[in-house]
Amino acid sequence: MTADTKPILPGATLGVLGSGQLGRMFAIAGAQMGYHIHVYSPDRNTPAGELAVREFSAPYEDEDALTEFAKSVDVVTFEFENVPSAVSTAIGNHSRIRPSASVLNISQNRLREKGTLRDAGLPVPEFRAITTAAELQSAVEELGTPGVIKTASSGYDGKGQAVIRRNSDCPAVWNSLNTDEAILEQYVDFEREVSVVGARTPQGDFAVYRPFDNTHENHILDVTLCPAALTLQVENRAIEITRTVFEKLDVIGVLCVEMFVTRTGDLLINELAPRPHNSGHLTINAHKTSQFEQQVRAICGLPLGSTDQLAPAAMVNLLGDLWNKGEPAWDRLSANPSANLHLYGKSAARPGRKMGHITTLADSTSAAADIALRARHSLTAETQTDTA
Ligand code: AMP
Repeated sequence: MTADTKPILPGATLGVLGSGQLGRMFAIAGAQMGYHIHVYSPDRNTPAGELAVREFSAPYEDEDALTEFAKSVDVVTFEFENVPSAVSTAIGNHSRIRPSASVLNISQNRLREKGTLRDAGLPVPEFRAITTAAELQSAVEELGTPGVIKTASSGYDGKGQAVIRRNSDCPAVWNSLNTDEAILEQYVDFEREVSVVGARTPQGDFAVYRPFDNTHENHILDVTLCPAALTLQVENRAIEITRTVFEKLDVIGVLCVEMFVTRTGDLLINELAPRPHNSGHLTINAHKTSQFEQQVRAICGLPLGSTDQLAPAAMVNLLGDLWNKGEPAWDRLSANPSANLHLYGKSAARPGRKMGHITTLADSTSAAADIALRARHSLTAETQTDTA
């Protein structure tokens, strides 16, 4: 057994970069399993920080603070991939970082990500690298309209992207992106969007959940169903694609592959998230092992947990918009035994900000979705009878 495959056992300290809801749910899982959690982010009093043994609040550029953080833990993972690349180098000098700095680097830049996947023989939409308005114009002429332009880095939840419907849109769209590196993708006329969350240990063991079926509102995840309504053939292919991503990139930890299912049943990878994913939140209630416990197991080199599902499930996100007319009526949810409420402890509710989620289990995904949507509606309905 090498130093890299020796399990990191309970009692050790796990570090997480980023301190939002993903770090919080990781901290809950880690603490339950007997680990100590340290978090690092530029913020204070954060969703993950309030549950951690130690919260480092310093800029990602602060090498001394990063070194102190790295020395205080046995392994570092992240819940937020858009950290400067110098961070993983600084941490790598004093601790292990899982997934590795190279996986982080690939997932931080959409051009690098799509290029790496294409070179590995994995299916991605047609794309071109763009650095000027003129390049955009000629790439749109080549790939046709509609197209989707995205900044190469720092984009998430639809930020830093636009749909190009006509060639004449190019100059204005390019100016609005305010970037010097972007990716133009062919617009995929998809039937549905799915995601697959997997996990892999330093010993090479791999486990995967069945695909999640995702619906977005304004580019932000709104509803996830599991299992997704896919043919067995498409489901198996989605899982094989995910396994290949883990092996080709040598991923240790948890990673999510977001994919489009086309109307002809083909799969195209949209994006990688080298960490637990919003669509996987329902695993906390619906699966034998949550994606966060799986993240702890994977980065610590423990045997992976069972990904068996207990019942068909739905998850709905609770965004800050729900607070528009004041505090949602939590007492109504407490009275609903089918709704599992998760709140992230964020004090300020802003439109589009992820504040929590509700997971429901039922005999079918459509029944679970119905209960979850009614539960969410009950939070802001004028009277209780509106929810009937
Ligand atoms: P992203 O930030 O890349 O995850 O994109 C956010 C959302 O925009 C996706 O979940 C899709 O709904 C949509 N989208 C992104 N890329 C494309 C594409 N090439 N074709 C069609 N829709 C897309």
